[in-house]
Amino acid sequence: MELIQSFSVDHTRIVPGIFTSRVDRLGDYSVTTYDIRLKRPNREPVIDVAAMHSLEHLIATYLRNDPDWKDEVIYWGPMGCLTGFYLILKGSRAPRELYGLMLSAFRAVNDAREVPGTAPENCGYWRMHNLEMAKWYASEFAAYLEANADNDDIFEYPRAERLVTGDGQRFFDS
Ligand SMILES: [Zn+2]
Repeated sequence: MELIQSFSVDHTRIVPGIFTSRVDRLGDYSVTTYDIRLKRPNREPVIDVAAMHSLEHLIATYLRNDPDWKDEVIYWGPMGCLTGFYLILKGSRAPRELYGLMLSAFRAVNDAREVPGTAPENCGYWRMHNLEMAKWYASEFAAYLEANADNDDIFEYPRAERLVTGDGQRFFDS
């Protein structure tokens, strides 16, 4: 397995959107990690941690119940920097192919009457949820996706030359 990208992402120019983070090939199979980025790194406040937790539950539940996509989903979870989520899918689709799915998933948050899986038996920190703020962030991101449907920048990361350290090593941020 050798698929190391020759570029790195310029985090100072990232806008919200749907981006390929990495593709891993395992024999005949591919697995793709996508960044679903809701916030501009280092340039705006990150997502409230309780809302982030609720969005993790709500959208994971949505994706794993969607009849067309549930068998493709390997993982949905929050980025440690609280600016977005990781989505891992079977295959190697272009980010644009996930546009409809992400729009429906974030739109569906607005219809939720509760966050699924918030009993102590189901969750690592069941007190830390915020459905109303989750709806606020989800609506904001869905409106952004709709307004930028024709903007290529929401599907492709700005690239930068890969950093070479003083010791001559190439830098990898993940
Ligand atoms: Zn939880």
